[in-house]
Amino acid sequence: MRKNIVAGNWKMNLKIDDALNLANDVINLLPSDNDVEVVFAPSFIHLEKVNKMCLKLGLVNTASQNVCQQERGAFTGEVSAEMIHSLNVKYAIIGHSERRGYFNETNEDLKLKVDVSLKNNLKVIFCCGESLNHREERFHFDWIKRQISDSLFHLSLDDFRKVVIAYEPIWAIGTGVTATPNQAEEMHKFIREIIKKNYGEEVANNTSILYGGSCTSKNSKDLFYKDNIDGGLIGGASLDPESFISIIKSF
Ligand code: PEP
Repeated sequence: MRKNIVAGNWKMNLKIDDALNLANDVINLLPSDNDVEVVFAPSFIHLEKVNKMCLKLGLVNTASQNVCQQERGAFTGEVSAEMIHSLNVKYAIIGHSERRGYFNETNEDLKLKVDVSLKNNLKVIFCCGESLNHREERFHFDWIKRQISDSLFHLSLDDFRKVVIAYEPIWAIGTGVTATPNQAEEMHKFIREIIKKNYGEEVANNTSILYGGSCTSKNSKDLFYKDNIDGGLIGGASLDPESFISIIKSF
């Protein structure tokens, strides 16, 4: 059966000491019977040190927040999947709406990033999400279907098993406005349906689908209670160890 996952997207926050302290605090506060997969996504520059701490203590995995779509070579300032994997990092977050929006990453670019990540043995946390306009125009289901099918549905069944989906409506990210549990569940159910159509019931039932967008310790219980919500990708609330831990404990 699919895993429950809570991942903290630290974005472009925290100096190295703050990042290590946050990781250490969360790890120390984890309940001894925790069975939720916990993931930290620090900036590239802190990934190695945070990951070393996580590997040593063995309780948390890490993710990069991005990956270069090119395999290697003259791409100044970029970081390759091969480099990330060489640190024993488990996941790459791909397609976050901030990358799509501020850095013009298209579905086609993201398809390449997915491919190069899987080729280099990184699992993928693939983000999708609609704008408020799309939702108001009732275009949100088509939009999500397009994002997922354009970037993921070329994958073989075996490769698709290495993908976690994060549904993150853009209007909910960093805004304090959360999708209601029913709105989120409706979309998660839809996503699982389209996975089922492409890869069959067993794969669909085993794919973790996370919710992201102003998820906090105040709303996580109601969200995670829903059948098709298997955890969260958490931005702001992942920067505070107590808040992040109470989100993890919401299951
Ligand atoms: C995110 O950036 O993935 C996110 C969900 O942010 P926040 O929780 O701050 O809305």
